[in-house]
Amino acid sequence: MLILTNIFAFVRMIDLQFNNISLQEIVLLNNTENISLNILRLDNIHPIISGNKWFKLQYYLKEAIAGKFLTIATFGGAYSNHIVATAEACTKNNLECFGIIRGDEHRTSHTLELAKAYGMQLLFVNRSDFKNKDAIKEKYKHHNWYWINEGGYGLKGAEGAADIMQFVPVDTTHIIIATGTGTTFAGLLKNLLPHQKVMGINVLKGNISINNEINSLLTEEEQHKNFEIINDYHFGGYAKHPKELIEFMKQLWLQYNLPTDIVYTSKMMFAIFDLINKNYFPTNSKIVAVHSGGLQGNFSLPVNTLPF
Ligand SMILES: *Cc1c(COP(=O)(O)O)cnc(C)c1O
Repeated sequence: MLILTNIFAFVRMIDLQFNNISLQEIVLLNNTENISLNILRLDNIHPIISGNKWFKLQYYLKEAIAGKFLTIATFGGAYSNHIVATAEACTKNNLECFGIIRGDEHRTSHTLELAKAYGMQLLFVNRSDFKNKDAIKEKYKHHNWYWINEGGYGLKGAEGAADIMQFVPVDTTHIIIATGTGTTFAGLLKNLLPHQKVMGINVLKGNISINNEINSLLTEEEQHKNFEIINDYHFGGYAKHPKELIEFMKQLWLQYNLPTDIVYTSKMMFAIFDLINKNYFPTNSKIVAVHSGGLQGNFSLPVNTLPF
C-alpha cells in the first residue's frame, strides 16, 4: 500500500486546465490604417481565476510537487488575484495553502472570502512587517512550506506565462498585456518572435523599478528583444477607477460584448484605443491584446455599477 502511494505521488501531474481560450475580433471604426485587433480571452479559462495567474503558477506547483512539498505559502493584499488563483490551484492539486495577507483581518474583502472558500488559510500581517518577506519566511521556516513570491513574481512564473504565446497567431505584430509585477510580460517576451513587439500597460503609478524587475527575469539576449512599458494609463494608481474608466468599460461591453476589470484589463483596452487614435501603430499592424481576466476584482464595486 505504501509503495503504491509513493508511485502515485511520483507520477502525479499538475491539474490546471487551459480550456476555452479563444481570440475575439474587435472591429475598428474608421480603420484607415488597416489595423486588426484581437483579444486573447484568457478570462474564459475560469470564471473567478485570472487567466494569466494559472499560467504563472504551473511551474511553481510542479516544482513543489516534485520536491514533495505538501504546503504552499504566498503573499498578497486584500484584492490580490494571485491569492485567489493560488488558493484554487492548490486545492485542485491537493496542496494545503497559506496566504500571508497584508493588513488587518477585520477588513476582509470579496477576494479574501473567495480565497478562504477555495481552501486557503489566511495569516494577517501588518503593513510594515509585510515589507520584510524574509523575516516572515524565517518565522515559519520549521513548517517546510514551498514559498511563492507576491504576485507570482519570478523566473518560474515567467516561464509559465511564456506558454501563453502558444495561443498568439504567428503573424501578430504587437502583443499587449497589463503589467503589475511584469512577470507575465517577461514570459511573453521569452517566446517573442523577431517581427513582434510586446507592450506592457503599467497599472501601477510611479513604479519605475519595473524595468529592472523585468530585466532580472530575462537573459541578456531576451533583453534586446523589442519591448516597451507604457506608464501613461494607470488612471491615478493601482485599482483607481475614475468615472471615465467605468464609462469606458460600459462602452466596451455594449459595443463588443467584452467584459473588463477595473484594475488591469480596462486600462489596457483604454490604452490600446487611445494609442490607435494617436497613430502609434504602423499601417497593417496586427494587434493581440491579452485579456488576463481579473473580473472578480469588480466585486468590490457597488452592485449594478456595471452591466456585466
Ligand atoms: C496579476 C494580473 C496582471 C499582471 O500580471 P503580472 O505578471 O504581475 O504583471 C494582469 N492582469 C490581471 C487580470 C491580473 O490579475
